[in-house]
Amino acid sequence: MAVEDSPITTTIDFEKEGKQDSYLRVPHSHNTSAWGSIFIPVTVIKNGQGKTVLFTGGVHGDEYEGPVALMKLARELNANDIRGRVIIIPGLNQPALLAGQRLSPVDSKDMNRVFPGDPRGTLSQVIAHYVRHAILPLCDAVVDLHSGGYSLNFLPYISMHYLEDPEQLQATLAAMEAFQAPVSMIIQEIGGQGLIDYEVENMGKIFLCAEMAGGGMLSPRALKIAQTGVRNLLVHFEIIEGELVTREGQGLPAPRRMEIPGLDYYCIAPAAGIYESFFELGEWVEAGQSAGQIHFLTELHREPVPIIARRSGQVITLRAPGRTETGDCVAVLGREVEG
Ligand code: CA
Repeated sequence: MAVEDSPITTTIDFEKEGKQDSYLRVPHSHNTSAWGSIFIPVTVIKNGQGKTVLFTGGVHGDEYEGPVALMKLARELNANDIRGRVIIIPGLNQPALLAGQRLSPVDSKDMNRVFPGDPRGTLSQVIAHYVRHAILPLCDAVVDLHSGGYSLNFLPYISMHYLEDPEQLQATLAAMEAFQAPVSMIIQEIGGQGLIDYEVENMGKIFLCAEMAGGGMLSPRALKIAQTGVRNLLVHFEIIEGELVTREGQGLPAPRRMEIPGLDYYCIAPAAGIYESFFELGEWVEAGQSAGQIHFLTELHREPVPIIARRSGQVITLRAPGRTETGDCVAVLGREVEG
């Protein structure tokens, strides 16, 4: 589908019945390829009337559970299996995924900070613009699969934002619960503007973001959570038949509803050095306790500087590498939602 002003082309017809494996072709002129292009693989599966769900992975190129879960889904799912439409993009920031790094190596941009994009902008902006105008309008729900990447490690969760519209809120909560991650998280972002999340939400649609594990690794346990969650959402949206695979059905504790309600729940390094966390993922920190401390590498006699938790909560996220710079997020705490 062509979008006005966008240089992106594709053989995909989003309205066509059946299964299409193709790509978005993004023109990319560089030193070794004058008329070159970047291919972003896309699978579209459509069968009659029903809901449309977009699954994206690889928005950051150093996060692997999402791309692998979605590549498996793209291989396995056929038009006869579904009712409605499933759009699968395992590596939305394909150059970053190929490079195994968070940011696009082409323009050094974060794909999840450039929405709504710009058809005359840099490569990441061009991709974001196409997704915003060609794909998001088709969707009832968008599920973006992330992990912590190189720099963070997560207790696996599925998340949504605080939403004002009561109908959108309830529909999003129901989808989040259907995913059956260990934690269903409602989150106040620290990351600024330009997220795909806000585009989808502002269109009144359902948006979910999964955070699976991280540290630049692929966790088998988190991959299984991602695969189960994706399948469960297809059941939830009545795209495939079957029952939800619940955590309790797998002999696991039921999903817990938690929230990261504000910036006070983020612990930020006040200095550069080596971060020593006093807690593992999943452990509880009391407000006023040291979550960890920064050791100074060049001033050996200097006492490490503690990072005091401003709120009580469970450790949901930890910085993955020990080496830490001033301003890095080293821990995020979450609290249980009552009721
Ligand atoms: Ca991410």
